[in-house]
Order: sequence, then C-alpha cells, then structure tokens
Amino acid sequence: MELLNIFIGGEWRQGGGELMHSHFPADGSLNATLHAASLEDVAFAVERAEQAWRDPNWRDLLPHQRATILRRVGDLIQLRLERLAEQQTLDNGKPLAEARGLVASAAATAHYYASACELQEGELPTARHSDIMTLSRYQPLGVVAAITPWNSPIASEMQKIAPALAAGNAVILKPAEATPLMALELASLFEEAGLPAGLLSVLPGKGSVIGDALARHPLVRKISFTGGTRTGRHLAHVAAEKLIPASLELGGKSPTIVLEDADIEQAARGICYGIFSSGGQACIAGSRLFIHRSVYQPLLTRLLELTRGLRLGHPLQHGTHIGPLISAAHREQVMRYVELAQEEGGQVLCGGEIPADPVFAAGYWFQPTIIEGLSNQARVCQEEIFGPVLVAMAFDDEQQLIAEANDSVYGLAAGLWTRDAARALRLADRLEVGTVWINTYKVFSVSTPFGGFKESGLGREKGIQGLKAWMQQKSIYLATGTSVNHWCD
Ligand code: ADP
Repeated sequence: MELLNIFIGGEWRQGGGELMHSHFPADGSLNATLHAASLEDVAFAVERAEQAWRDPNWRDLLPHQRATILRRVGDLIQLRLERLAEQQTLDNGKPLAEARGLVASAAATAHYYASACELQEGELPTARHSDIMTLSRYQPLGVVAAITPWNSPIASEMQKIAPALAAGNAVILKPAEATPLMALELASLFEEAGLPAGLLSVLPGKGSVIGDALARHPLVRKISFTGGTRTGRHLAHVAAEKLIPASLELGGKSPTIVLEDADIEQAARGICYGIFSSGGQACIAGSRLFIHRSVYQPLLTRLLELTRGLRLGHPLQHGTHIGPLISAAHREQVMRYVELAQEEGGQVLCGGEIPADPVFAAGYWFQPTIIEGLSNQARVCQEEIFGPVLVAMAFDDEQQLIAEANDSVYGLAAGLWTRDAARALRLADRLEVGTVWINTYKVFSVSTPFGGFKESGLGREKGIQGLKAWMQQKSIYLATGTSVNHWCD
C-alpha cells in the first residue's frame, strides 16, 4: 500500500504517528493512507518554522516579493482547478460543482492577499510633540498555528495560510482528521511556487493530540481555528494561558427571515440553497426559518417543491445537488436530531430519512429535511446540527421576530428576504450576527470581513483587516530636534 508523505519543516516524509486514512464518503473507498504527525514532528516543524521566519531570506523580503509567491500559488491553483476540485470531492464528498467553487475561492484568496500585502501601509499618527515624530508599523507575529475542519478544506485552509504568509509569518497547518489531502496539495503548490523551506508545514493528526500540542507549543504566537464551539473554547483557554491571540470561527444556528413583502420565489430558492447546499454541513447554514404568518403557506409550499426536486447523487456526477455527509457517525448524529425534533412535537414535512435507493447504500446520504410545529426553544432550534435539517416557524410581528432570531447562543449569520431596503437595514442592525445577507444567502467575498458574534467566534478573517490580524503593531518615536533631556541635571 502506497503511503503519502506529509510536509514537516520543509521535508516530505512519513509522519511519526499512527496510520490515518482519507475515505471517499460516497462509497467508503480508500483515497489515501498516511502516517499522522507525531509530537516530535510538531516540535521539529515549529523549530524549523521559528528559524525560517527569522531567516533574512524571508524576514528581509519586501511585501511585493512575498506577494510574488502568493500570486504564483493562485495561478497554479487556477491552472489545476479541475484536478484539485476532483480531489477535494473525493476527500469530503462535496458535489464537484461546489468543490470547484472552493478551489476557485482558494485561488482568489491567494491573489487577494498578494495584492493586499503590497498595499498594506503603516501610519504616521498626528504629532503631539513639535520635535518628535511617531510611526506606527506592523510586523509579523512569528510562528502561527492554523487548525481547520473538514467541511471546506481548501478554501478555509487558504483563508489562513495566505494572509499569514503575506504578513511574513511561518505557518503550521493542522487539517481535520477526515480530510488531509488538500492541505498536503497546498503544501506542494507553495513549495513549487518557491516558498522557502520551513515556512509552511502540514501536520495531519488527531486534534486532541497534535492540534493541542501545536497550540500549546511555546513558540506558537497565534492560534487561528475554524471548527466547533467546544474545541474553540478549549483553544481560547490555551491562548489565554499563553497570552497569545486566538481567532475563532465557530458554530452557528443562523436564522433566515421572510417578511410579508418578500419575493416568494427568490426567497424560497435562496433559503433552499442556504440550508441544503453542502448537505447543510456549513457553519453558516440557514437552519432556522422564520416566515411572516401572512406568507407562511405559500413560501413553505414552494420551498417543499424545490426541496423535493433536489437531486441526491454521486458527488462527481454532473447535476448532483446533494452528496453524502462526511461519515456514518455524523449521519447518525443528524438522524438523532430528527428523532429528537419529533419527540419535541415537530412534524417532518419532507425528508427525515436515509434514501431507500440501493445506489446510496455504500455512502452516507441523508434526505433534505424540513420540520415544522416547533418553537425556537426546541433543542433542534438551539443546537447546531450541521446537516440538511431546516425548522420552519411563523412569526407575527417584528418585535417577536427579533427576540426569537437573537435567542441563540450563536451569532454567525442571518438572511433577510424583503423588498423594503430601509426596513431590511433597520432589522440587519438589530440582528446579533456577524454577517447579514439581504435577498441572498451564503455568498462570500474575500474582501469582506467574516466572523461571528457571541459563541460563533472571536476575531475576523478576510479583508484588509484580515491581514493585520496576523501582525503585531509597533510604535516608534523619533526625535527630530536637537534638544537633550534635562531630567538628570
Ligand atoms: P468539527 O465539529 O467541525 O469536526 P472540531 O472542532 O472537533 O470540529 O475540529 C476542527 C479541527 O480542530 C480539526 O482539525 C480537529 O482535529 C481540531 N481539534 C479537535 N480537538 C482539538 C483540540 N483539543 N486541540 C486542537 N485542535 C483540535
């Protein structure tokens, strides 16, 4: 059996840890086997990274020179988009069309941070002394850790690596257990693009062992994490102990809201995509649907029609809307939530089961599911399911709507469907979430910051400020006059 090497401190070699496997969720077949990183590999990668970011070959590169490497990586990804997308699909089961989107987003992120790092400027704060000038400059943090989940690997990994390197750091990436392949692909692309050795390592392995050791390593100066809230809270503790910054992109239970004047067709289509694309395995999935009572039936009727028409299928097959969930264990959890919804008094309007067709028998498909008859207090409305399950509820007035939409420990995103732009902006201000989509849902722009309120996270990624988040600010006072200090006279 061929074993994949992993990329440790600039060297491709076998990890010192246990065997790990990447499986295709559509049929459980084996994509690749590799040895996970060991604790010694973590120590080696961090030490090499520490040398590499201080090395004049990297430290003294000017931003436009660092940008060249990122630009090359973006170009290489675009050239190989089709192959990378296929590999992404094999690794986590996303339909190919969605995987193409993730790969294109990774290329765009590399290009964006290439430009951003060339354009990034320091400041000359306004003088408060006639003969002293002050400068505010930004410097790299050093060695930084990126820990990523399995749902959108290549995009979320580039979202951390690109700004971290653009800022002049060295990065150690710990991909999710189930999906190590794209991270290793990225390492090889950065190597091909001429990134000096040691500045990027990819250490697949168990989160609680390798991820934890990486976060705790004394030389690691920032933790950037995307994943579940429980792990995020743990890493926030680790960061607090070390007094280092942590950027946390965590869970969500996002409300989508249909007001009485919404375009029903536009809303139904957007809501359908917002919850069921990626099989609902998205932190931003719009999983709580609030519909004004006056349009509840027409909206729900159209949404049910659209949902029943979704094509479950092989993720590599053209036209598939919904591929398998990531694993049998995850599907079990999703199914338990559907049972719980019924125990809590909910009625399943569509879906709710494993598809019966034997073509789905070897993978982990689950039907897109819509439930009604529950209040926002139900556990299925309060807990993140991370699967294709939507709960629909009616509301009567704005005050009740805002109270219920905000009644969640999470605050990642919200959707609003209305023709009244002024009302939409007023409501957007009152929603306690990091992103509000109005008459659209689940669209992203690398130039627009992203992150959560409340237990959905801490810090922001993307945008120009996403670059500064990987740097530390330094103030310099420069005396321009000739006066001497007379204190010690
Ligand atoms: P999910 O629920 O999305 O699988 P997790 O939060 O468990 O989310 O995992 C996201 C990433 O965090 C994965 O790469 C995983 O290996 C890693 N991880 C899990 N537990 C820890 C931990 N204790 N310390 C560091 N990383 C962890």
